[in-house]
Amino acid sequence: MATSKVRPKPEAPPMMVAQISKPGADFELVEREIPEPSTGHVRIKVQACGVCHSDVLTKDGSWPGIQYPRVPGHEVAGIIDEVGDGVSAWKKGQRAGVGWHGGHDGTCRECRRGDFRNCRNQKIAGISYDGGYQQYMVAPVEALVPIPESLSDTEAAPLLCAGITTYNALRHGGAFPGDLVAVQGVGGLGHLGIQFANKSGYKVAAVGRGSENASLAKKLGASVYIDSTSTNAAEALQKLGGARVILATAPSSKAMSALFDGLGPNGTLMVIGAAFDPIEVAPVQLINGSRTIQGWAAGTPADSEDTLLFAELTGVRPMIETYPLEKAAEAYARMLSGKAEFRVVLTM
Ligand SMILES: [Zn+2]
Ligand SMILES: [Zn+2]
Repeated sequence: MATSKVRPKPEAPPMMVAQISKPGADFELVEREIPEPSTGHVRIKVQACGVCHSDVLTKDGSWPGIQYPRVPGHEVAGIIDEVGDGVSAWKKGQRAGVGWHGGHDGTCRECRRGDFRNCRNQKIAGISYDGGYQQYMVAPVEALVPIPESLSDTEAAPLLCAGITTYNALRHGGAFPGDLVAVQGVGGLGHLGIQFANKSGYKVAAVGRGSENASLAKKLGASVYIDSTSTNAAEALQKLGGARVILATAPSSKAMSALFDGLGPNGTLMVIGAAFDPIEVAPVQLINGSRTIQGWAAGTPADSEDTLLFAELTGVRPMIETYPLEKAAEAYARMLSGKAEFRVVLTM
């Protein structure tokens, strides 16, 4: 028998992890060994991780094929502290993030067309592998996003899901500077959507429920605030000429259906608020004015990089509430309550 040359490593302290052990279980704080990155992967010393509504998929086990125990988290910001074999473009000490797009195979038909966002075998951080609710995580290099100097970890984290989703949907919505863009919902996505739309040079109409968010919406860059509980919001948008894009962020199919007629000619309802019930729009509503309904999923790590650079350039920042990792359960409950203003972020 050959003598092993592998010596036991000097006592490494374990790390803390907030995991879900089975579908629907509560968060448990456990200690684990710090993982080693395999070929093509890096280890990130996590500094901050956003708590996103899509973490429900991990908590409740509603994503097909998810395996447990699983550590949620796909809004990760940190520092690379170890690189695996074959990694040349990333170095120890470099700041990096990971968002929803946690990896792609590079070989499926979509990847071969360069459409990595729609990879048939896409990996999702916190679902396909353990995400950012822990002190160290391992991620494949194709999922990494460089974080600009001037953005803090807690600012960058929510931009890697909520930020990229709103920014990328807006820039693919077809509006030009000066066009009317409506942002439905002034919440976790909407408060970023309003800022990105304003900084993109659009005339922004924020559509919210009740009057309490009016002054905040204007502070964030909306030139008009429409209270959909006291006004017919679609008519109000038509009075302004009709929206070129409505960015639908609040997951209410009913509200999206009611707002559709606020679109102008060639307008697009960009749907990013993930609800499960149908949007109801009659064919004639689509035909009149050649209007479109489109869904939009976040984007690639390169899109995330664009988002961070645009935020750095223009001053777009998420409004956040921070919780230490030990309080992951509390942070998750706060996110679910819908009362957070506006993104909840864990710090390590
Ligand atoms: Zn998310
Ligand atoms: Zn692919």
